[in-house]
Parts: sequence; C-alpha cells; structure tokens
Amino acid sequence: MAKSIRSFAELKRHIYLWVLPILIFSLFTNSILEKLFFARSLNGIINISLIIWFIVSWILLYKRGISTIIEYSNLILISIYHVTKVASVIYYRIVQSGGGELGDFIVWMPLYIMFIFFTLGQKRGLYFSFIIFLITLINGLMYIGELPPESVDSFIQFYIATSVYIIVLYYAQHLFKVFTEMEIVKKHAFLDSLTSIANRHQIDEWLEGMIRDARETGTQFAVIFFDIDHFKLVNDQLGHKTGDSVLIEFAQLVKSSLPLGDKFGRWGGEEFILISSSCGDNALKLAEYLRAIIENHAFREVKGLTASFGVADYQPGDTIDTLLNRADKGLYLSKKTGRNKVHTG
Ligand code: GH3
Ligand code: MG
Ligand code: MG
Repeated sequence: MAKSIRSFAELKRHIYLWVLPILIFSLFTNSILEKLFFARSLNGIINISLIIWFIVSWILLYKRGISTIIEYSNLILISIYHVTKVASVIYYRIVQSGGGELGDFIVWMPLYIMFIFFTLGQKRGLYFSFIIFLITLINGLMYIGELPPESVDSFIQFYIATSVYIIVLYYAQHLFKVFTEMEIVKKHAFLDSLTSIANRHQIDEWLEGMIRDARETGTQFAVIFFDIDHFKLVNDQLGHKTGDSVLIEFAQLVKSSLPLGDKFGRWGGEEFILISSSCGDNALKLAEYLRAIIENHAFREVKGLTASFGVADYQPGDTIDTLLNRADKGLYLSKKTGRNKVHTG
C-alpha cells in the first residue's frame, strides 16, 4: 500500500480512507450507547450529521481523491463537534451534577490536533488550534468557581495536555518540513541539473567509496570515461539549446542501456563516467556495447552522433586521480585514432 504513495496529497488520502470508517464506527457506537439517534438533542444532531458527512466524504475521497472542500468541511465539522462536546460535558456532566471528570473524548485530542496541523499546515494550524484551545478554555473558566477540586484538576490536566499536544505537533511538523527540505537539497546536491543524472560531486563520492571497498575487501571495478565526439559542432551548427537537448537524450540513452548496479554520471560538459562492476575484458565489452548503441541511435535533433571511450580497471594503490588519469589516457587514444573507439589507458 505504502509503495503507491508518491505525494503528500496521496498520503493524506490514504490516511483519510482508513481513519474515516473508524471515526464513523466510533460515532455510530457512541450514538447507540448514548441513545442519541432519536434524542433530538444538539449532540444527537451533530453526531448524525457527522456520520452522514463522513460517509459522503469517504465516497468522494475514494472516487475523486483529496479535495480542499472535503478537508476543510471535515475540519470545521470536527471542530464544531469538539467545541460543543467540551461545552456539553462541562455543563451537563460536570456543572449540573456538581462534579465529575471530562471523560473519554479527551483520548481523541492528539488526533484532532494532528488533523488540524495536517490540514492547515504549520502556521495556520498553530493559530487554529490555539483559537480552539482558547474557546474551550474560556468555556471552562466560566464555571471553574462552581466546581469541586477533582473536576478542576481534570480541567487543568485537559488544558495542559492540549497545549503540550499543540506545541509538540507544531515542532513535529516543523521537523518534518526541515527533513523533507534537507532530503530535497541533498538530492539536488548530487544531481546534474541539465540531465538529471549523477553529477561530478556524486561521482567523486562513489569513487571514494569504491576505492575504499576495493582496498578493504578486494572488490574489483572499472572506470569507463567517455566524451561525445565533435560536440562543439552540434552547438555551432544547431545552437546551444539543441546541444542541451542532445545531452539530455544522450544521458537517458546511456542510462537505459546500463547493467544493473553500475553507476553513471556527468563528469562535466560532454564528458561522462561509468563506474562498473565489470572489469578487464568485460569492461571493454561494455564500453564497446555502449559505443555501438550511441552510434546506432537515431537522435531526435542530430545525425551520426558518436562518442569515444577510455577504460581503466582499478589497480591496488590507485587513487581517484591515478585511476581517472588512466581512463583519460584511453580516451585520448580513442580520440587520436579517429574517435568513436574504445581504448584502455
Ligand atoms: P572532441 O571530439 O575532441 O571531444 O570535440 P568536441 O567538440 O566534443 O570537444 P570540445 O572540448 O572542443 O568541445 C566541447 C563542447 O561541449 C564545447 C562546449 O560548448 C560544449 N558543452 C559543454 N557543456 C555543454 C552544455 O551543458 N550544453 C551545451 N549545449 N554544450 C556544452
Ligand atoms: Mg567531445
Ligand atoms: Mg570534452
């Protein structure tokens, strides 16, 4: 189920689809146990309206997806329910009977405040939950003088708990936002903005990791360095913008032709690097395979595009520089011997 969730709206929809039936069930049992269905009281009317609205919104959510109208209507109805419930519990259950406690609806408080933040976001959620808190507080303060100590205690616990939930959820939402933004920034720090494949920074990190692994565990790998042939001509003849789209198409073509697990990125300009778990003859074969794919591909905006390749296996004692220098030498040989070729360095 979680796999199909790709956006915040989708996440909300899934949560509503699960939670609404539970709320409907809870309101339904509450209405039956407290005989509210035929009571013609405000509580009864609110309960029945909520049940009907929740059923309607569940169907709408199921059929059409999340919508602001459904979310806001749910929030307003639940808020009215909450405020009137607090008022009626304070007045009927406690003031009129001369004592007692606030009762079981308090268990829903965290969920209700979470729902406010969820729907309105961090800032507006804080204002809204604060207003609801104030309304219930004023309501309690109106009767506080008439209450016995155990009821006052229950009130104080309720207000303190509500403010703690508001503060915790405000910061939880803040943290969630910060972490999500950090994830996005992190992702972009490692991506090339034009082609959306890994950038040089990411390739450096990969190489560092691969060399460390190779030193510690003896894993083998090879670097395949390649460069588009005469790319300057593409820019000169067709313009820089077309050059850009050719680079995007080139990157996607290579990316879609790679063995699983091999790491591919843009080193800069029209130069690319592949870090492959194949090595020796297999790395050469892989480079040759990519060379042929590029040569035979009908690019949308340019004819006869080719690339030259340099291949180097990791050797004990290599650093990033020595390894890349060897691959670069191979690439230089390929360029020197006529381009559209593969050489080791
Ligand atoms: P060679 O076969 O020797 O590699 O020739 P070349 O023309 O491909 O190489 P050269 O290094 O002379 O030119 C590379 C060109 O790539 C020059 C530069 O304008 C272009 N280039 C680099 N980055 C980009 C880019 O992001 N977009 C576009 N459109 N062009 C780019
Ligand atoms: Mg080039
Ligand atoms: Mg170049």
